[in-house]
Amino acid sequence: MATKAYAAQSATAPLAPWSLDRREPTPHDVQIDILYCGVCHSDLHTVRNEWGGAVYPAVPGHEIVGRVTKVGNHVKKFKVGDLAAVGCLVDSCRECANCKEGLEQYCLNGSTGTYNSKDKHSGGVTYGGYSKQIVVDEDFILTIKEDQPLEAVAPLLCAGITTYSPLRHWKVGEGQKVGILGLGGLGHMGVKLAASFGAEVTMLSHSPSKEADAKKLGAHNFVLTKDESQVKKMTGYFDFILDTVSAEHDYNMYLSMLKTSGTMVCVGAPPAPAKIPAFNLIMGRKSIGGSLIGGLPETQEMLDYCASKNIVSDVEVIDIKYINEAYERMLKGDVKYRFVIDMATL
Ligand code: NAP
Ligand code: ZN
Ligand code: ZN
Repeated sequence: MATKAYAAQSATAPLAPWSLDRREPTPHDVQIDILYCGVCHSDLHTVRNEWGGAVYPAVPGHEIVGRVTKVGNHVKKFKVGDLAAVGCLVDSCRECANCKEGLEQYCLNGSTGTYNSKDKHSGGVTYGGYSKQIVVDEDFILTIKEDQPLEAVAPLLCAGITTYSPLRHWKVGEGQKVGILGLGGLGHMGVKLAASFGAEVTMLSHSPSKEADAKKLGAHNFVLTKDESQVKKMTGYFDFILDTVSAEHDYNMYLSMLKTSGTMVCVGAPPAPAKIPAFNLIMGRKSIGGSLIGGLPETQEMLDYCASKNIVSDVEVIDIKYINEAYERMLKGDVKYRFVIDMATL
């Protein structure tokens, strides 16, 4: 099936119109007409090959909401006309210990990402949501409720689950002091979710202009990380810090803000490695960890939780022709707080 899309043809080329082929749905597949697709900083890291391993043409996009247009004859969960959502994964081995536990993102045999991953069906590479339609196995499709603003639900599929999963895993909640580092797509969901779990939330941002918004989003405090005196006051303050920063930064400054036995979890994935002296962990029994998106069961749990609490993303809906400018604005931290492409413009 010829499908309209936007692709980058090289690491230095802008995204531009392209046509790709989607497979005919197999018996377990669902074909989805994409309505909205969120713009994640990982899309930008990938198309510009900042992490290495990008395959061109590259079609990013893993915050997908749409409507079912066709189903294979073994499909049970979906029928034509239903809403459907796809996040960062479209397949995994389904047999390893992690897959059996619903941790498909950590599939021991390698999960299949929604884009820039080896496609088991075509033998080529997977193409993401900057496209008119997508065909996905029903086991990797999430359900969403009809009465929600769909453009604001789309970013939950990556930004939502990537912050929900570590906050749940490390049991962040009432009585805890939590720092969310970086107020972008992930960060703004981190603030909303941590506040909804009952934690005292502090926004750690290098952008003074974001203070008022951080508080509107649910942060109780705001610390400007460029201001040494504000940083110093936070020494030994936090139980938990969630680091969502996309660019190179000094992890040690934030480790100093942790209490004894505190934990800092990185979800932001800057291309350059971090330098952390062992002593900064030894002194105060501190931990540093990481977390990758979330598995299918937890992603559905997060979507249901957000629906029950009326939590959605704050979005700026864009025409797909604006995507290259949107990337430049994202690099400047000028997003409130997620760009979402209206796929009707493609
Ligand atoms: P984003 O919307 O661009 O937000 C990143 C934020 O980081 C910015 O808004 C800014 O916040 C802060 N920042 C940017 N440059 C900085 C700098 N030079 N120094 C200090 N702070 C800086 O990006 P996103 O979509 O939320 O993604 C964030 C990162 O998470 C990316 O690296 C992405 O690839 C990664 N990611 C990881 C996973 C996972 O599973 N682990 C999933 C999705 C995304 P302030 O202006 O408030 O400082
Ligand atoms: Zn993402
Ligand atoms: Zn597996």
